[in-house]
Amino acid sequence: MPTPVRRNHERSTQAYRRACRVIPGGVNSPARAFGGVGGQPIFLERGQGPYVWDIDGHQYIDYVGSWGPLILGHAAAAVVAAIQEAVHQGTSFGAPTEAETELAELICRAVPGVEMVRLVNSGTEAAMSALRLARGFTRRHRIIKFAGCYHGHVDSLLVQAGSSATTLGVPNSPGIPPGCTADTICLHYNDVEALEQAFAEHGPTIAAVILEPVVGNMGVVLPTRPFLDAVRELTRRAGALLIYDEVMTGFRLAWGGAQEYLNRLGLQPQDGPDLIVLGKIIGGGLPVGAYGGRADIMKHVAPVGPVFQAGTLSGNPLAVASGLATLRQLEKTRPYEALEKLTSQLCQGLAALCRSVGIAHQMQQAGSMWTLFFQDQPVTDYRTALASNTKRFARFFWGMLERGIYLPCSQFEAAFVSTAHTQREIEATLTAAREALQDCIQEA
Ligand SMILES: *Cc1c(COP(=O)(O)O)cnc(C)c1O
Repeated sequence: MPTPVRRNHERSTQAYRRACRVIPGGVNSPARAFGGVGGQPIFLERGQGPYVWDIDGHQYIDYVGSWGPLILGHAAAAVVAAIQEAVHQGTSFGAPTEAETELAELICRAVPGVEMVRLVNSGTEAAMSALRLARGFTRRHRIIKFAGCYHGHVDSLLVQAGSSATTLGVPNSPGIPPGCTADTICLHYNDVEALEQAFAEHGPTIAAVILEPVVGNMGVVLPTRPFLDAVRELTRRAGALLIYDEVMTGFRLAWGGAQEYLNRLGLQPQDGPDLIVLGKIIGGGLPVGAYGGRADIMKHVAPVGPVFQAGTLSGNPLAVASGLATLRQLEKTRPYEALEKLTSQLCQGLAALCRSVGIAHQMQQAGSMWTLFFQDQPVTDYRTALASNTKRFARFFWGMLERGIYLPCSQFEAAFVSTAHTQREIEATLTAAREALQDCIQEA
C-alpha cells in the first residue's frame, strides 16, 4: 500500500504556537487539543457540506460535525440564510421574541414528554439548570450520575466524567470544592444492581438520576432494557426525577430523540423521563441549550416559580434562527432512516476491513453516531470502554487524517454522519481506512 506524502501542517503549527501564548493549550475546549492521540491540533478555516478545510489548504471529510450540532453538514444553505436574515434585525434584545416561542413549540411537538421548555446558551448550562430545578422541585439534594456520561463541566457532575475529562485522564478537576460533589453518586452505566443498592441506601434523599439515554461521551454505548426499566422504576418509587441528557442525541437519533429511537429497538420503558436536556442540534451550530419536561415541574422555574435561572443572551435571535432553520429542515425531510442506513454502510465497511487484517474491534453504532473501539469485547460501560487499545486508535486517527479524513481525536468520542455525506464520501473513507488499518498492523 502506498503511504501518502505527509501533509504539510506548517501554518497550523505556527497558528498553534501563537495560540498557546494567549489561550491555555491553544484551545477553547480541551476536547479539541488532540490530547488523546498526541501531537497538536490542526486549525480549520472553512466548512461546506461534509467537508472542512484547514489553514494549510487541505480538504477533509468531516466526521466531527462540531461534535454533534451539524447534522445538516457545514454551512447548510437554509441555516446560513436564516442567520443572515436575523442579523439584519438586530443581534440581541434581552426581550422576548416570537421566534423563541416557535422554537419552544417545535421542541414540545417533537420530543415526547416535553410540555414546557426554557432556552439557555449551552448544554452545560442546561444540565446545570435542570439539576437545580430537580433539587428545587423535590427539595432533596442527592444526584446519581454514571461514569462515562458527560453532562458538561458542571461542578457537581465532574466526578469521573466522560468526554475530554477522560482523555485528559483527570477524573476529578481541581477547583471544585468537596461540598459540590459530596451529593453526587457516580455509578456504572447499565449496572442495575448498583442502582438498586444506591436507592436502597439513599432513596429518600435522591433528587434525580441523570443519564445519556444513548451514550456518546465514552464513545457510543447503548443502554439495556433492564437498566432503563430500573432507572425509571426506582426513581418513580423513590419520588426522584429522571433526567435524560439528550444534548447529543436530541434530534440526532430520531425526530423525537433517544426515546423514539430506543422505542423502535424495544429498549424504551413506556414512561419517559421527567426532564430532558437539549443542546447541540437545536442551535444548528450556534450556542443554544434547553431544558424542558413536565409542565408541573417546569412551572417551578422563575419567574413563575422559586427556582432561579437567567441569561442575558438566552434565546438569542441569531442562535434561535439557526436552530429553527435546522429543526424545520429536519421536520420536513425526516432524514433519519437514510442517515442510519448510510452510517451502517460505513460501519459495516470499517468492521469488514478490521476483520480482513485481523484487528480486534467493536463497531458500535446508534443511528448516525458511531465509534470504532479497538478491542474485542462489547463496550457496555466506562470500565469496558477503557480496555480499548488507545495507541492503536491514535495510529488510526493520524493515518486517516493524513488521508483526508477528520475523525474525533479520541477513542472515547462519538463520530457523526451528516445529511450532507453521500455514498461518495463513505467510499472515500473506506478506501482511506483500508490503508490506515494496514499501517496500524505494520507498525504494531
Ligand atoms: C456536549 C454535551 C454536553 C455539554 O454541552 P456544551 O454545549 O458543550 O456545554 C452535555 N451533555 C451531553 C450529553 C453532551 O454531549
